[in-house]
Amino acid sequence: MFTDGRSRRVLLIAHCLLNQNAISDGTAVCPAAFREAVRALLDGEAGIVQLPCPELCCLGLDRGDPRGAERPVTVENTRIRRALCEPSAGKRLTALADQAARQAAEYRKHGFAVLGVVGVDRSPSCGVETTSDRDAEVPGRGLFMEALSRRLAELGLEVPMLGVRGPEDAAAKIKALLQNAG
Ligand code: SF4
Repeated sequence: MFTDGRSRRVLLIAHCLLNQNAISDGTAVCPAAFREAVRALLDGEAGIVQLPCPELCCLGLDRGDPRGAERPVTVENTRIRRALCEPSAGKRLTALADQAARQAAEYRKHGFAVLGVVGVDRSPSCGVETTSDRDAEVPGRGLFMEALSRRLAELGLEVPMLGVRGPEDAAAKIKALLQNAG
């Protein structure tokens, strides 16, 4: 089954690394996508599973501009974290995490390699090593990555998760992940 042209290896990646148009106003660092990270994935023949942007899906595109607020980005991020904890947003976020985990489970069920999940450090939603909470950058996961990791574990899946900070870091970490995966 599935012995056609596909590589049978996929990586789940935070939405905004492939689409900077989704990110909070004032925080995009390039016009479209992290070019070198995408190139590394294509060179490594890894299928790119773009995760949903939880903030866009739960709070909308216009969810504040840290530049206009004249406050540190971590303070704005903590405001976003609180908004994501509201019942309706939280429900949507959990559903998004469930859908993403189910995709990973389908691939794994058919013997595909699910190479990893790539998040965005400092994000209140997609942080992996660090997130924003209590008006500061703190160790720990963002709300979406926390929910995704929980759902993956419930489905019996162990998938490495890593957080990146900007285009160069993303390219370097993704290349290393693909090299280690062989
Ligand atoms: S870090 Fe996550 S929530 Fe923030 S813009 Fe990227 S995908 Fe959306």
